[in-house]
Amino acid sequence: MANPNDLSSLRFEPPPPFAAGEALRGEVREFLAAHLPKRAVTQGLGSWGGFDPEFSRKMGARGWIGMTWPKRYGGHERSALERYVVLEEMLAAGAPVIAHWIADRQSGPVILRVGSEQQRQTILPRIVAGECFFCIGMSEPDSGSDLASVRTRATAVPGGFRVNGTKLWTSNAHRANYMILLARTGDKGEQRHAGLTQFLVDLQATEGIAIRPVYNLSGEHHFNEVVFQDAFLPDDCVLGTVGEGWKQVSGELAFERSGPERFLSAFRLLVELTRALQANPSERAQIALGRIVAHLYTLRRLSRSVAGMLQAGANPALQAALVKDLGTTLEQEIPEIARQLLDEEPDRDSARDVVAVLAHTMMNAPSFSLRGGTREILRGIIARGLGLR
Ligand SMILES: Cc1cc2nc3c(=O)[nH]c(=O)nc-3n(C[C@H](O)[C@H](O)[C@H](O)COP(=O)(O)OP(=O)(O)OC[C@H]3O[C@@H](n4cnc5c(N)ncnc54)[C@H](O)[C@@H]3O)c2cc1C
Repeated sequence: MANPNDLSSLRFEPPPPFAAGEALRGEVREFLAAHLPKRAVTQGLGSWGGFDPEFSRKMGARGWIGMTWPKRYGGHERSALERYVVLEEMLAAGAPVIAHWIADRQSGPVILRVGSEQQRQTILPRIVAGECFFCIGMSEPDSGSDLASVRTRATAVPGGFRVNGTKLWTSNAHRANYMILLARTGDKGEQRHAGLTQFLVDLQATEGIAIRPVYNLSGEHHFNEVVFQDAFLPDDCVLGTVGEGWKQVSGELAFERSGPERFLSAFRLLVELTRALQANPSERAQIALGRIVAHLYTLRRLSRSVAGMLQAGANPALQAALVKDLGTTLEQEIPEIARQLLDEEPDRDSARDVVAVLAHTMMNAPSFSLRGGTREILRGIIARGLGLR
């Protein structure tokens, strides 16, 4: 076992200086002032601000989706740091970006990496335009953390595959154009992770798929159960290589872990809490808010460091897992601290913004450390990355 005091593999390079980002930040703020839909403060609190195809199209027209992708697929060949500025501003404002979020963050990059030329040419420009939305078909009723145990089976038949099985917790499947499905095409064999394949599934054009709502704690329809019953997928739906699904998925999950979405989920509550307390803050409130802001500042620096490492072509999987674990811990602490500082019961229907936002954030907070890999799973990755496992 490695020496637990040796942290040499855990380096966070200082975030690269990025003065040019400030001009872009100004552009994003102007855009938000002009286009952010007027709505109640609690409306932008669901995952990534809510689903708004029109807003996504406006962002696409502005060149803010697929920002780093090659121009030949409609992308804009801008830097990961520029993309970071846009994401951060959108999330801090609670802008409704979930419609294109999955496609921009992970499905598009996977298609770019392993997709066929035809898949790239037909799909990527539509994502960039903010007109093509994706969902992730990984988790199943008995497969979440242990993703290698998925049982949805795609059986080879003439001309393609016949799919049977059930996916669960599929965010926005009811509004997405495509799912990237992870299914079993072969036997596990001796390697636990062998025999898995990814497919690009056109949810509107494929028969044999039933999408049913699963309501979350706050009564919203965000998740779904997606049942495949003898659904036929032609050969050209295979994404990447048959049997290489596990390797492809592991690469995909790394895109999920280090962005500003991993520490800004409770940001609106922090803003409302500060507003509510600022007139006459107790010493306790000042210390508590000061600690949250200091932690947020540090996390932002760590997260921007990961963006810089990605930009430089490094593979900061360990650092990304650490940022997600620390970030979701802070996101979950903010409502706890707010509860202690406010002398009011959380109430979603309250006319006081801070009280309504607190109630809403509390109901969503348990999910912060589940989506994209649970805390325990991340800590396993971190331990392995440090050579402790
Ligand atoms: C808001 C949200 C959106 C989501 N969207 C999607 C989506 O779009 N597509 C999709 O495919 N999935 C999605 N998921 C599902 C998510 O990926 C899973 O919930 C997650 O991977 C955990 O799986 P599980 O729920 O089956 O819990 P389990 O894997 O059953 O875990 C239950 C508990 O046991 C712990 N545990 C499990 N294994 C170990 C271990 N080896 N060591 C220590 N502890 C362990 C876990 O950490 C957890 O605390 C979403 C989840 C949420 C909350």
